[in-house]
Amino acid sequence: MNHMTDVTSQGLHVLTKPIGPICNLDCEYCFYLHKDQLYGGGERWRMSDETLEAYLRQTVEAQPDMVDEITFAWQGGEPTLMGVEFYERAVELQRKLVPANKRIQNTIQTNGVLLDDRWCEFLRANRFLVGLSIDGPAELHDRYRRDKQGRPTFEAVLRGLKLLEKHGVEYNLLIAVNRHNGDHGRRVYTYLRDNGAHFVQFIPIVERRAVGTNPVSSRSVQPEQFGDFLIEVFDEWIHRDVGRVYVQIIEEAVRAWLGLEPALCLFRRQCGRAIVLEHNGDLYSCDHFVDPNYKLGNIHDRPIIELANGDGQVRFGQDKEAALPEYCRQCDVRFVCNGECPKNRFIKTPDGDTSLNYLCAGYRKFFRHVDPTMRMIVDEIKQGRQAANVMHRLNAERRAKKKQVPYVSGPPGRNDPCPCGSGKKYKKCCMRR
Ligand code: SF4
Ligand code: SF4
Repeated sequence: MNHMTDVTSQGLHVLTKPIGPICNLDCEYCFYLHKDQLYGGGERWRMSDETLEAYLRQTVEAQPDMVDEITFAWQGGEPTLMGVEFYERAVELQRKLVPANKRIQNTIQTNGVLLDDRWCEFLRANRFLVGLSIDGPAELHDRYRRDKQGRPTFEAVLRGLKLLEKHGVEYNLLIAVNRHNGDHGRRVYTYLRDNGAHFVQFIPIVERRAVGTNPVSSRSVQPEQFGDFLIEVFDEWIHRDVGRVYVQIIEEAVRAWLGLEPALCLFRRQCGRAIVLEHNGDLYSCDHFVDPNYKLGNIHDRPIIELANGDGQVRFGQDKEAALPEYCRQCDVRFVCNGECPKNRFIKTPDGDTSLNYLCAGYRKFFRHVDPTMRMIVDEIKQGRQAANVMHRLNAERRAKKKQVPYVSGPPGRNDPCPCGSGKKYKKCCMRR
Protein backbone atom coordinates (compact mmCIF):
# COMPACT_ATOMS: atom_id res chain seq x y z
CA MET A 1 0.00 0.00 0.00
CA ASN A 2 1.22 3.39 -0.85
CA HIS A 3 0.23 6.91 -1.70
CA MET A 4 1.54 8.15 -4.91
CA THR A 5 3.86 10.99 -5.41
CA ASP A 6 2.00 12.71 -8.19
CA VAL A 7 4.78 13.98 -10.37
CA THR A 8 2.73 15.93 -12.89
CA SER A 9 5.46 18.48 -13.51
CA GLN A 10 7.95 15.68 -14.00
CA GLY A 11 5.75 13.42 -16.10
CA LEU A 12 3.10 10.77 -15.77
CA HIS A 13 3.26 8.34 -12.88
CA VAL A 14 2.02 4.79 -13.43
CA LEU A 15 1.91 2.43 -10.49
CA THR A 16 2.19 -1.10 -11.87
CA LYS A 17 0.94 -4.33 -10.33
CA PRO A 18 2.63 -7.11 -12.27
CA ILE A 19 1.13 -9.81 -10.05
CA GLY A 20 -2.17 -8.06 -9.28
CA PRO A 21 -3.28 -8.45 -5.66
CA ILE A 22 -1.49 -11.76 -5.06
CA CYS A 23 0.57 -11.66 -1.89
CA ASN A 24 2.51 -14.09 0.29
CA LEU A 25 1.19 -12.40 3.44
CA ASP A 26 -2.29 -11.84 4.78
CA CYS A 27 -2.11 -8.45 6.48
CA GLU A 28 -5.50 -7.84 8.01
CA TYR A 29 -5.89 -4.27 6.83
CA CYS A 30 -4.68 -4.72 3.23
CA PHE A 31 -7.16 -3.01 0.93
CA TYR A 32 -5.87 -4.75 -2.18
CA LEU A 33 -6.05 -8.47 -1.35
CA HIS A 34 -9.76 -8.77 -2.18
CA LYS A 35 -9.26 -7.28 -5.64
CA ASP A 36 -8.84 -10.81 -6.99
CA GLN A 37 -12.66 -10.86 -7.18
CA LEU A 38 -12.42 -8.21 -9.85
CA TYR A 39 -11.06 -10.72 -12.31
CA GLY A 40 -13.29 -13.62 -11.34
CA GLY A 41 -10.64 -15.63 -9.55
CA GLY A 42 -9.71 -17.59 -12.69
CA GLU A 43 -7.18 -15.02 -13.82
CA ARG A 44 -3.54 -15.94 -14.27
CA TRP A 45 -2.00 -13.26 -12.14
CA ARG A 46 1.21 -12.59 -14.01
CA MET A 47 2.07 -9.76 -16.31
CA SER A 48 3.01 -11.20 -19.71
CA ASP A 49 6.13 -10.08 -21.58
CA GLU A 50 3.81 -8.50 -24.17
CA THR A 51 2.07 -6.35 -21.53
CA LEU A 52 5.40 -5.54 -19.90
CA GLU A 53 6.82 -4.23 -23.15
CA ALA A 54 3.63 -2.26 -23.97
CA TYR A 55 3.70 -0.69 -20.50
CA LEU A 56 7.35 0.31 -20.66
CA ARG A 57 7.15 1.62 -24.23
CA GLN A 58 3.98 3.61 -23.61
CA THR A 59 5.26 5.05 -20.33
CA VAL A 60 8.38 6.32 -22.07
CA GLU A 61 6.31 7.78 -24.91
CA ALA A 62 3.91 9.48 -22.45
CA GLN A 63 6.61 11.64 -20.85
CA PRO A 64 6.96 15.27 -21.89
CA ASP A 65 10.32 16.34 -23.39
CA MET A 66 11.32 18.34 -20.30
CA VAL A 67 11.27 15.23 -18.13
CA ASP A 68 14.81 14.06 -17.46
CA GLU A 69 13.99 11.05 -15.28
CA ILE A 70 11.40 8.37 -15.98
CA THR A 71 10.05 6.45 -13.01
CA PHE A 72 8.72 2.90 -13.14
CA ALA A 73 6.88 1.96 -9.95
CA TRP A 74 6.28 -1.71 -9.08
CA GLN A 75 3.75 -2.69 -6.47
CA GLY A 76 1.28 -5.42 -5.55
CA GLY A 77 0.14 -7.56 -3.91
CA GLU A 78 3.74 -8.54 -3.44
CA PRO A 79 5.74 -7.68 -6.56
CA THR A 80 8.78 -9.81 -5.62
CA LEU A 81 6.59 -12.89 -6.25
CA MET A 82 7.25 -12.25 -9.96
CA GLY A 83 10.84 -13.37 -9.40
CA VAL A 84 13.96 -11.37 -10.03
CA GLU A 85 14.13 -12.59 -13.66
CA PHE A 86 11.01 -10.57 -14.53
CA TYR A 87 12.68 -7.36 -13.37
CA GLU A 88 15.91 -8.27 -15.15
CA ARG A 89 13.89 -8.38 -18.37
CA ALA A 90 12.19 -5.09 -17.46
CA VAL A 91 15.49 -3.34 -16.84
CA GLU A 92 16.93 -4.67 -20.10
CA LEU A 93 13.92 -3.38 -22.02
CA GLN A 94 14.08 -0.02 -20.27
CA ARG A 95 17.68 0.40 -21.46
CA LYS A 96 16.53 -0.14 -25.03
CA LEU A 97 13.46 2.09 -24.79
CA VAL A 98 14.54 5.05 -22.67
CA PRO A 99 16.44 7.75 -24.61
CA ALA A 100 20.07 8.20 -23.57
CA ASN A 101 19.45 11.73 -22.27
CA LYS A 102 16.95 10.53 -19.63
CA ARG A 103 17.62 8.76 -16.36
CA ILE A 104 15.76 5.60 -15.33
CA GLN A 105 14.36 5.23 -11.81
CA ASN A 106 12.68 2.07 -10.58
CA THR A 107 10.82 1.87 -7.29
CA ILE A 108 9.45 -1.31 -5.75
CA GLN A 109 7.29 -1.72 -2.70
CA THR A 110 7.69 -4.95 -0.79
CA ASN A 111 6.97 -6.67 2.50
CA GLY A 112 10.61 -7.79 2.41
CA VAL A 113 9.98 -11.43 3.21
CA LEU A 114 11.44 -12.82 -0.03
CA LEU A 115 14.50 -10.60 -0.16
CA ASP A 116 17.78 -12.47 -0.33
CA ASP A 117 21.33 -11.74 -1.49
CA ARG A 118 20.48 -12.21 -5.15
CA TRP A 119 17.53 -9.83 -4.95
CA CYS A 120 19.55 -7.22 -3.11
CA GLU A 121 22.47 -7.44 -5.53
CA PHE A 122 20.04 -6.86 -8.39
CA LEU A 123 18.28 -3.96 -6.63
CA ARG A 124 21.57 -2.30 -5.80
CA ALA A 125 23.09 -2.80 -9.26
CA ASN A 126 20.05 -1.23 -10.90
CA ARG A 127 19.55 1.57 -8.37
CA PHE A 128 16.06 0.49 -7.34
CA LEU A 129 14.50 2.50 -4.54
CA VAL A 130 12.79 0.02 -2.20
CA GLY A 131 9.76 0.80 -0.05
CA LEU A 132 9.64 -1.65 2.83
CA SER A 133 6.51 -2.09 4.95
CA ILE A 134 7.07 -2.33 8.69
CA ASP A 135 4.75 -1.13 11.45
CA GLY A 136 7.25 -0.65 14.29
CA PRO A 137 8.88 -3.06 16.75
CA ALA A 138 7.72 -6.71 16.79
CA GLU A 139 4.79 -6.39 19.20
CA LEU A 140 3.32 -3.52 17.18
CA HIS A 141 4.20 -4.85 13.71
CA ASP A 142 2.92 -8.39 14.28
CA ARG A 143 -0.55 -7.33 15.37
CA TYR A 144 -1.90 -7.15 11.82
CA ARG A 145 1.01 -8.10 9.55
CA ARG A 146 0.81 -11.88 9.49
CA ASP A 147 1.36 -14.59 6.89
CA LYS A 148 -1.24 -16.89 5.35
CA GLN A 149 -0.93 -19.26 8.32
CA GLY A 150 -1.44 -16.42 10.79
CA ARG A 151 2.20 -16.42 11.89
CA PRO A 152 4.05 -13.20 12.78
CA THR A 153 6.29 -11.69 10.10
CA PHE A 154 8.47 -9.21 11.96
CA GLU A 155 11.62 -11.36 12.05
CA ALA A 156 11.45 -12.00 8.30
CA VAL A 157 10.93 -8.29 7.56
CA LEU A 158 13.82 -7.27 9.81
CA ARG A 159 16.04 -9.81 8.07
CA GLY A 160 15.04 -8.22 4.72
CA LEU A 161 15.83 -4.77 6.09
CA LYS A 162 19.30 -5.86 7.24
CA LEU A 163 19.96 -7.39 3.82
CA LEU A 164 19.04 -4.12 2.11
CA GLU A 165 21.48 -2.33 4.39
CA LYS A 166 24.21 -4.91 3.89
CA HIS A 167 24.02 -4.45 0.12
CA GLY A 168 23.68 -0.68 0.26
CA VAL A 169 20.22 -0.65 -1.38
CA GLU A 170 18.40 2.65 -1.01
CA TYR A 171 15.14 2.16 0.90
CA ASN A 172 12.42 3.95 2.72
CA LEU A 173 10.11 2.56 5.36
CA LEU A 174 6.33 2.59 5.08
CA ILE A 175 4.50 2.45 8.36
CA ALA A 176 0.78 1.74 8.39
CA VAL A 177 -0.62 3.70 11.34
CA ASN A 178 -3.53 1.74 12.80
CA ARG A 179 -5.53 1.52 16.01
CA HIS A 180 -2.89 -0.72 17.61
CA ASN A 181 0.34 1.17 16.97
CA GLY A 182 -1.46 4.55 16.78
CA ASP A 183 -0.73 5.43 20.42
CA HIS A 184 2.99 4.93 19.94
CA GLY A 185 4.23 7.55 17.51
CA ARG A 186 7.47 8.30 19.32
CA ARG A 187 8.18 4.65 20.00
CA VAL A 188 7.62 3.56 16.39
CA TYR A 189 9.65 6.44 14.98
CA THR A 190 12.61 6.15 17.36
CA TYR A 191 12.72 2.38 16.92
CA LEU A 192 12.99 2.67 13.15
CA ARG A 193 15.38 5.61 13.28
CA ASP A 194 17.63 3.81 15.73
CA ASN A 195 17.65 0.86 13.35
CA GLY A 196 19.07 3.05 10.60
CA ALA A 197 16.03 4.45 8.80
CA HIS A 198 16.60 7.72 6.96
CA PHE A 199 13.32 7.89 5.03
CA VAL A 200 9.96 7.15 6.63
CA GLN A 201 6.41 7.47 5.43
CA PHE A 202 3.31 7.12 7.61
CA ILE A 203 0.13 5.79 6.04
CA PRO A 204 -3.10 6.02 8.05
CA ILE A 205 -5.26 2.90 7.94
CA VAL A 206 -8.85 3.93 7.26
CA GLU A 207 -11.18 1.04 6.42
CA ARG A 208 -14.64 2.36 5.77
CA ARG A 209 -17.63 0.32 6.92
CA ALA A 210 -20.92 0.81 5.10
CA VAL A 211 -23.03 -0.82 7.82
CA GLY A 212 -23.20 -0.37 11.58
CA THR A 213 -22.86 2.71 13.71
CA ASN A 214 -19.10 2.94 13.44
CA PRO A 215 -18.05 4.33 10.05
CA VAL A 216 -14.70 2.48 10.14
CA SER A 217 -13.28 -0.90 11.16
CA SER A 218 -11.82 -1.52 14.60
CA ARG A 219 -8.36 -1.65 13.00
CA SER A 220 -8.63 1.87 11.63
CA VAL A 221 -6.65 4.61 13.29
CA GLN A 222 -8.82 7.20 15.03
CA PRO A 223 -8.58 10.76 13.73
CA GLU A 224 -7.13 12.41 16.86
CA GLN A 225 -5.00 9.36 17.50
CA PHE A 226 -3.41 9.87 14.08
CA GLY A 227 -2.82 13.55 14.81
CA ASP A 228 -1.20 12.73 18.15
CA PHE A 229 0.93 10.04 16.53
CA LEU A 230 2.28 12.56 14.00
CA ILE A 231 2.84 15.15 16.73
CA GLU A 232 4.93 12.71 18.75
CA VAL A 233 7.00 11.96 15.65
CA PHE A 234 7.41 15.64 14.86
CA ASP A 235 8.43 16.57 18.40
CA GLU A 236 11.11 13.90 18.36
CA TRP A 237 12.29 14.81 14.87
CA ILE A 238 12.51 18.55 15.48
CA HIS A 239 14.83 18.09 18.45
CA ARG A 240 17.12 15.42 16.98
CA ASP A 241 16.75 14.59 13.32
CA VAL A 242 16.32 17.68 11.14
CA GLY A 243 18.49 17.14 8.08
CA ARG A 244 19.12 13.52 9.06
CA VAL A 245 15.77 11.79 8.69
CA TYR A 246 13.25 12.44 5.94
CA VAL A 247 9.67 12.14 7.20
CA GLN A 248 7.37 12.42 4.25
CA ILE A 249 4.50 14.36 5.87
CA ILE A 250 6.93 16.82 7.45
CA GLU A 251 8.57 17.41 4.07
CA GLU A 252 5.11 17.98 2.62
CA ALA A 253 4.42 20.53 5.34
CA VAL A 254 7.66 22.38 4.62
CA ARG A 255 6.71 22.52 0.93
CA ALA A 256 3.28 23.91 1.77
CA TRP A 257 4.60 26.55 4.18
CA LEU A 258 7.09 27.54 1.46
CA GLY A 259 4.17 27.97 -0.93
CA LEU A 260 5.27 25.07 -3.15
CA GLU A 261 3.06 22.50 -4.81
CA PRO A 262 2.72 19.29 -2.74
CA ALA A 263 4.69 16.31 -4.06
CA LEU A 264 2.10 13.87 -2.72
CA CYS A 265 -1.27 13.47 -4.43
CA LEU A 266 -3.09 13.42 -1.07
CA PHE A 267 -2.36 17.07 -0.38
CA ARG A 268 -2.75 18.45 -3.88
CA ARG A 269 -5.81 20.51 -4.73
CA GLN A 270 -6.50 18.16 -7.60
CA CYS A 271 -5.25 14.65 -8.27
CA GLY A 272 -5.58 12.23 -11.15
CA ARG A 273 -2.04 11.93 -12.52
CA ALA A 274 -1.13 8.84 -10.50
CA ILE A 275 -2.75 5.96 -12.34
CA VAL A 276 -2.62 2.22 -11.78
CA LEU A 277 -1.85 -0.55 -14.23
CA GLU A 278 -3.08 -4.05 -13.49
CA HIS A 279 -1.19 -7.18 -14.61
CA ASN A 280 -3.32 -7.62 -17.78
CA GLY A 281 -3.00 -4.06 -19.08
CA ASP A 282 -6.16 -2.62 -17.49
CA LEU A 283 -5.61 0.95 -16.39
CA TYR A 284 -7.45 2.56 -13.44
CA SER A 285 -7.80 6.09 -12.07
CA CYS A 286 -5.96 5.46 -8.81
CA ASP A 287 -4.75 2.72 -6.49
CA HIS A 288 -7.75 3.36 -4.23
CA PHE A 289 -10.24 3.29 -7.08
CA VAL A 290 -9.46 0.01 -8.79
CA ASP A 291 -13.03 -0.94 -9.64
CA PRO A 292 -15.05 -1.09 -12.87
CA ASN A 293 -16.40 2.46 -12.43
CA TYR A 294 -12.90 3.86 -12.60
CA LYS A 295 -11.42 1.65 -15.29
CA LEU A 296 -9.96 3.85 -18.00
CA GLY A 297 -9.40 1.08 -20.53
CA ASN A 298 -6.71 -1.37 -21.52
CA ILE A 299 -3.30 -0.35 -22.81
CA HIS A 300 -3.48 -2.99 -25.56
CA ASP A 301 -6.47 -1.11 -27.00
CA ARG A 302 -5.44 2.52 -26.40
CA PRO A 303 -2.10 3.98 -25.32
CA ILE A 304 -1.55 5.10 -21.74
CA ILE A 305 -1.22 8.76 -22.68
CA GLU A 306 -4.67 8.82 -24.31
CA LEU A 307 -6.30 7.02 -21.41
CA ALA A 308 -4.63 9.26 -18.84
CA ASN A 309 -5.64 12.42 -20.68
CA GLY A 310 -9.22 11.28 -21.34
CA ASP A 311 -12.20 13.24 -20.03
CA GLY A 312 -13.02 10.67 -17.33
CA GLN A 313 -9.61 10.87 -15.72
CA VAL A 314 -9.40 14.65 -15.95
CA ARG A 315 -12.80 14.88 -14.22
CA PHE A 316 -11.66 12.40 -11.58
CA GLY A 317 -8.75 14.68 -10.72
CA GLN A 318 -10.80 17.88 -10.74
CA ASP A 319 -13.57 16.38 -8.59
CA LYS A 320 -11.21 16.32 -5.65
CA GLU A 321 -11.27 20.11 -5.51
CA ALA A 322 -14.82 20.62 -6.77
CA ALA A 323 -16.26 18.36 -4.04
CA LEU A 324 -14.37 20.02 -1.19
CA PRO A 325 -16.89 20.99 1.51
CA GLU A 326 -17.30 24.62 2.56
CA TYR A 327 -15.91 23.68 5.97
CA CYS A 328 -12.57 22.84 4.31
CA ARG A 329 -12.63 25.98 2.17
CA GLN A 330 -12.76 28.06 5.36
CA CYS A 331 -10.13 25.98 7.17
CA ASP A 332 -6.89 27.65 8.28
CA VAL A 333 -4.78 24.65 7.23
CA ARG A 334 -6.48 24.01 3.92
CA PHE A 335 -3.38 25.25 2.09
CA VAL A 336 -1.50 22.17 3.31
CA CYS A 337 -4.32 19.62 3.66
CA ASN A 338 -6.71 20.33 0.79
CA GLY A 339 -9.19 17.87 2.28
CA GLU A 340 -6.70 14.99 1.80
CA CYS A 341 -7.80 11.95 -0.21
CA PRO A 342 -11.39 11.72 -1.49
CA LYS A 343 -11.52 8.05 -0.46
CA ASN A 344 -11.51 9.20 3.18
CA ARG A 345 -14.20 11.85 2.81
CA PHE A 346 -17.28 10.33 4.38
CA ILE A 347 -18.08 12.04 7.68
CA LYS A 348 -20.26 15.04 8.41
CA THR A 349 -19.11 18.62 8.83
CA PRO A 350 -20.76 20.61 11.68
CA ASP A 351 -23.21 22.02 9.11
CA GLY A 352 -24.24 18.58 7.85
CA ASP A 353 -22.22 18.25 4.65
CA THR A 354 -21.34 14.55 4.34
CA SER A 355 -18.01 14.82 2.56
CA LEU A 356 -15.60 15.77 5.31
CA ASN A 357 -12.41 13.76 5.61
CA TYR A 358 -12.56 11.14 8.36
CA LEU A 359 -9.03 12.15 9.45
CA CYS A 360 -9.85 15.87 9.60
CA ALA A 361 -9.46 16.29 13.37
CA GLY A 362 -6.05 14.63 13.24
CA TYR A 363 -4.72 16.68 10.36
CA ARG A 364 -5.98 19.90 11.90
CA LYS A 365 -4.32 19.12 15.17
CA PHE A 366 -1.03 18.15 13.56
CA PHE A 367 -0.76 21.00 11.07
CA ARG A 368 -1.69 23.57 13.73
CA HIS A 369 0.88 22.07 16.07
CA VAL A 370 3.70 22.39 13.55
CA ASP A 371 2.71 25.86 12.36
CA PRO A 372 5.05 27.96 14.58
CA THR A 373 8.02 25.70 13.85
CA MET A 374 7.25 25.60 10.14
CA ARG A 375 7.37 29.38 10.07
CA MET A 376 10.81 29.28 11.66
CA ILE A 377 12.04 26.62 9.22
CA VAL A 378 10.73 28.50 6.21
CA ASP A 379 12.40 31.67 7.49
CA GLU A 380 15.75 29.87 7.63
CA ILE A 381 15.34 28.36 4.17
CA LYS A 382 14.34 31.71 2.65
CA GLN A 383 17.45 33.30 4.16
CA GLY A 384 19.52 30.59 2.49
CA ARG A 385 20.33 28.91 5.80
CA GLN A 386 19.93 25.35 7.06
CA ALA A 387 16.59 24.19 8.47
CA ALA A 388 18.63 22.40 11.14
CA ASN A 389 19.36 25.82 12.71
CA VAL A 390 15.81 25.70 14.08
CA MET A 391 16.61 22.43 15.84
CA HIS A 392 19.72 23.91 17.43
CA ARG A 393 17.83 27.02 18.53
CA LEU A 394 14.96 25.04 20.05
CA ASN A 395 17.38 22.77 21.88
CA ALA A 396 19.29 25.75 23.26
CA GLU A 397 16.01 27.28 24.47
CA ARG A 398 15.04 24.00 26.03
CA ARG A 399 18.37 23.74 27.88
CA ALA A 400 18.06 27.32 29.13
CA LYS A 401 14.53 26.68 30.30
CA LYS A 402 15.55 23.52 32.05
CA LYS A 403 18.00 25.40 34.22
CA GLN A 404 15.19 27.67 35.37
CA VAL A 405 12.52 25.03 35.98
CA PRO A 406 11.33 25.48 39.58
CA TYR A 407 9.72 22.51 41.32
CA VAL A 408 6.43 24.07 42.18
CA SER A 409 5.08 21.15 44.17
CA GLY A 410 8.23 19.18 44.91
CA PRO A 411 10.36 17.22 42.45
CA PRO A 412 8.65 14.84 40.04
CA GLY A 413 8.47 11.13 40.79
CA ARG A 414 10.98 8.74 39.18
CA ASN A 415 8.47 7.57 36.60
CA ASP A 416 6.87 10.96 35.90
CA PRO A 417 7.52 12.70 32.60
CA CYS A 418 10.68 14.77 32.86
CA PRO A 419 9.88 18.48 33.36
CA CYS A 420 12.48 19.41 30.73
CA GLY A 421 9.97 18.31 28.10
CA SER A 422 12.15 15.57 26.57
CA GLY A 423 9.26 13.11 26.73
CA LYS A 424 11.42 10.65 28.69
CA LYS A 425 10.79 9.49 32.22
CA TYR A 426 12.38 11.72 34.86
CA LYS A 427 14.61 8.87 36.09
CA LYS A 428 15.97 8.36 32.54
CA CYS A 429 16.61 12.03 31.96
CA CYS A 430 17.35 14.97 34.29
CA MET A 431 17.25 12.95 37.51
CA ARG A 432 20.54 11.33 36.45
CA ARG A 433 22.18 14.71 36.30
S1 SF4 B 1 -7.99 19.90 8.20
FE1 SF4 B 1 -10.10 19.19 7.96
S2 SF4 B 1 -11.27 21.04 7.46
FE2 SF4 B 1 -9.10 21.51 7.13
S3 SF4 B 1 -8.80 21.11 4.94
FE3 SF4 B 1 -8.23 19.26 6.07
S4 SF4 B 1 -10.05 17.98 6.09
FE4 SF4 B 1 -10.69 20.06 5.53
S1 SF4 C 1 -7.90 9.63 -4.97
FE1 SF4 C 1 -6.47 11.22 -5.53
S2 SF4 C 1 -5.59 11.88 -3.58
FE2 SF4 C 1 -6.52 9.88 -3.21
S3 SF4 C 1 -4.83 8.41 -3.50
FE3 SF4 C 1 -5.96 8.61 -5.46
S4 SF4 C 1 -4.81 10.15 -6.61
FE4 SF4 C 1 -4.19 10.34 -4.45
